[in-house]
Amino acid sequence: MSIIATALEQVRERIREAERCFDREPGSVGLLAVSKTRPAADILEAMAAGQRQFGESYLQEALEKIQQLQGEGLKWHYIGRIQSNKTRPIAEHFDWVHSIDKAKQARRLNQQRPDGLPPLNVCLQVQIDREESKGGLSPDQAAELALEIRHMPRLQLRGLMTLPAPAEGLEAQRRPFHALRRLQQRMSTPQLPLDTLSMGMSDDLEAAIAEGATLVRVGTAIFGPRHPTTAKST
Ligand SMILES: *Cc1c(COP(=O)(O)O)cnc(C)c1O
Repeated sequence: MSIIATALEQVRERIREAERCFDREPGSVGLLAVSKTRPAADILEAMAAGQRQFGESYLQEALEKIQQLQGEGLKWHYIGRIQSNKTRPIAEHFDWVHSIDKAKQARRLNQQRPDGLPPLNVCLQVQIDREESKGGLSPDQAAELALEIRHMPRLQLRGLMTLPAPAEGLEAQRRPFHALRRLQQRMSTPQLPLDTLSMGMSDDLEAAIAEGATLVRVGTAIFGPRHPTTAKST
């Protein structure tokens, strides 16, 4: 087995173990492999080991990989910062966007999503622990934007995403995830069911699963440490 295949199996085992430990239904937590800064060859290795959903943060390198791996049946999730003037390629090439934090981004993605494609799956990024996490809407802003997205035919609002500041220990890690889940419950209605909680990464996926994560976003634990110098910004 390749190093990536072995690491992927270990992450799957962590997810299964956390599902057991925290009374989650087996198979209820999805795995998004975060392949930012990694070459297409790494994605092919993960793919050979059964992984289909990949997350990218830097638009330019993501578009190159999506092009290279066309026809492989992969699902692409955009999880990085969104510049409002660069929404078109996101609307045209991705299946999901996790990082919407402005109404303008949602409006543009809705206008630019091509008719031949299914509606774009979106999550709102929420700054659940206030100033500490990296970007996002306040809970009230998220609730307000969700109502507006309900009237956008080319977007399918799936849920909420958060990227909390790193914390030590299970209890401290669970706190922001618990708050995000509470917000999701508050925002879900029969007309607008939110089925996705995108939370948890390499270091805190157990805490996120304990609090109801449906999709964990894991990079380092699958592909190894990132080399910052190889990261292209947007
Ligand atoms: C990089 C990144 C991840 C993955 O983080 P790891 O600690 O490498 O698992 C998850 N979510 C977002 C939004 C990221 O930018």
